Amino acid sequence: MSSHPTPGVLEVITGPMFSGKSEELIRRLKRARIARQRVACFKPDIDLRYHRTAIASHSSQTHEAITVANVERLREALYPQLDSIEVVGVDEVQFFDPGIIPLAVELIALGKRVIMAGLDTTFAAEPFGPVPNLMAISDTVTKLSAVCMVCGASAIHTQRLGQSQELVVVGAAGLYEARCRMHFHPFLDEHASEQLELAAVLESPGTN
Ligand code: ADP
Ligand code: MG
Repeated sequence: MSSHPTPGVLEVITGPMFSGKSEELIRRLKRARIARQRVACFKPDIDLRYHRTAIASHSSQTHEAITVANVERLREALYPQLDSIEVVGVDEVQFFDPGIIPLAVELIALGKRVIMAGLDTTFAAEPFGPVPNLMAISDTVTKLSAVCMVCGASAIHTQRLGQSQELVVVGAAGLYEARCRMHFHPFLDEHASEQLELAAVLESPGTN
């Protein structure tokens, strides 16, 4: 049984890259702090694009965060301070192992407000890691869309540019684009990669 009289909640924020997930997470965490709630925020150490000690949005907003290697390390960092924490935020949650799901259930049972942000699908448009399960057990799901970089329509996909087929290639601008259903080409965007190669040839001095 729950060791807390009032159960907490799980809020999931999801959508493709550039859809504003981190912005929305940061907004909610800042509002919680204005309401004098104590907040702890975590992110996986795979995402070192901007800061080790903060989560960051593509629009340069930041919030203090602890970088952890996996769910076990997240537990070790969180549990000693858990009594004094009311809100737990996690960004880039798609990169965590499935242990994040029972952890979310535990935190809800302890009365915490848990806010998890992450990609719903991979560059191949497949469900990404623990995110679909978290959406299924959540109280609310906020599914955001980005702007298609080809036509400006609403974008639900993350397009990887270039040749790599590895699941995780961390980076942002230049490697990935938000795309609508019509302009999303899951396995290789020939058009974009040809353009990139052409640009590289034109820009590199001394070729031909
Ligand atoms: P996410 O965490 O979902 O990747 P962020 O919160 O980091 O998104 O960034 C959202 C911001 O990215 C937007 O407010 C906007 O300033 C910028 N941005 C850049 N490219 C796009 C795009 N294609 N569609 C929407 N926003 C974009
Ligand atoms: Mg983000």
